[in-house]
Amino acid sequence: MAEKSAASAGLTDEQIHELVQKSHQAKQRAYAPYSNFRVGAALHTEDGTIFTGCNVENASYPLCCCAERTAIFNAVTEGCRTFRAMAVATDVESEFLAPCGSCRQVMREFGTDWTVYLTKPDLSYRTMTVGELLPCSFGPDDLNKPKVKGQ
Ligand SMILES: [Zn+2]
Repeated sequence: MAEKSAASAGLTDEQIHELVQKSHQAKQRAYAPYSNFRVGAALHTEDGTIFTGCNVENASYPLCCCAERTAIFNAVTEGCRTFRAMAVATDVESEFLAPCGSCRQVMREFGTDWTVYLTKPDLSYRTMTVGELLPCSFGPDDLNKPKVKGQ
């Protein structure tokens, strides 16, 4: 059962289901001894490869890394920078949770038009785009805009 909005990533229902399932499988590997808040992510790249990530916490709390960024960094490390969709999984049953602000900005680095599936443990999902998750965003193109000359 899907609560749909906005853009489709051009994935079939079967591909979406697989991506959602893989995000929940990745969640099983979360290292979250401090928050006990497990998160998983599965990222579908342009060529159909799926990269996963889980949150990895640390006794030095600021060093924790979210599942979404782990999946993106995994993909970039393997040479993939064009993404069609990401599914994000938590253990929360009552609502579709969205990525944190840091992850939204990292997603936005790779475009605003790709899809994010916010999922629940029952594998239902809500569809959003990166642009909907982070409106009025700052991105790579902004660095090249005309600037006043410094003194
Ligand atoms: Zn995050």
